[in-house]
Amino acid sequence: MKTISKENYLKIIFSREEETGKPITTTYLADKLNVSKAAITDMARRLAAEELIAYERYHGIRTLPKGKKLAVEVIRKHRLWELFLLEVLNMNWSEVHDEAELLEHTTSDKLMNRIDKFLGHPKFDPHGDPIPNRNGKFPKTAKRMSLLESAEGKKYKIVRVNDASKDVIDFLSKIGIELGSEITVKKILPKNEGALIKNGRRLHSISGNIAAALFIAPAEKGRKR
Ligand SMILES: [Zn+2]
Repeated sequence: MKTISKENYLKIIFSREEETGKPITTTYLADKLNVSKAAITDMARRLAAEELIAYERYHGIRTLPKGKKLAVEVIRKHRLWELFLLEVLNMNWSEVHDEAELLEHTTSDKLMNRIDKFLGHPKFDPHGDPIPNRNGKFPKTAKRMSLLESAEGKKYKIVRVNDASKDVIDFLSKIGIELGSEITVKKILPKNEGALIKNGRRLHSISGNIAAALFIAPAEKGRKR
């Protein structure tokens, strides 16, 4: 078993678990990793034997403490690398995720701790995702919601952008939206078809895909990330 797939497998289970609070189905994983359900089940049995996850047929997959720890370590490396590439190497906002996907599997803890120190122990990555500290603890984040759950006519601040799609981030850069941008939600179209948002004086129509990648917090409260 390649380390990369094992780590990505754990990362996906952990993240989904955090999101939903429920065990993960093999169907979800097969879809995410783009492999067959049989391959997922096979991997699940192996990781269960290593006590990284608990897997019971019909009950799905949960991470065990050892697996959680490993997932958080990989997530920490990913997010620190993204920030390093952006801040130190001046790479583009939309480019850093793909590079971090590779680097996260090959970096020693020692190097990562050096980079963390060099960056001043940052709490958030360039997409607004929290960076766990060296003990695996995540910083507190202000309450966030999807743009699709927002109320029309209200003002919000962009606090997180899903980092997985380069196209989404390129599009946002093009229309001048970045983390911290304040927007007014003018209209949310039904059936996740998109939204109409105002950024400064400009009105933008965004697709459902873009809207789903944007996470916001009320602008009034003005809580800093
Ligand atoms: Zn990323």
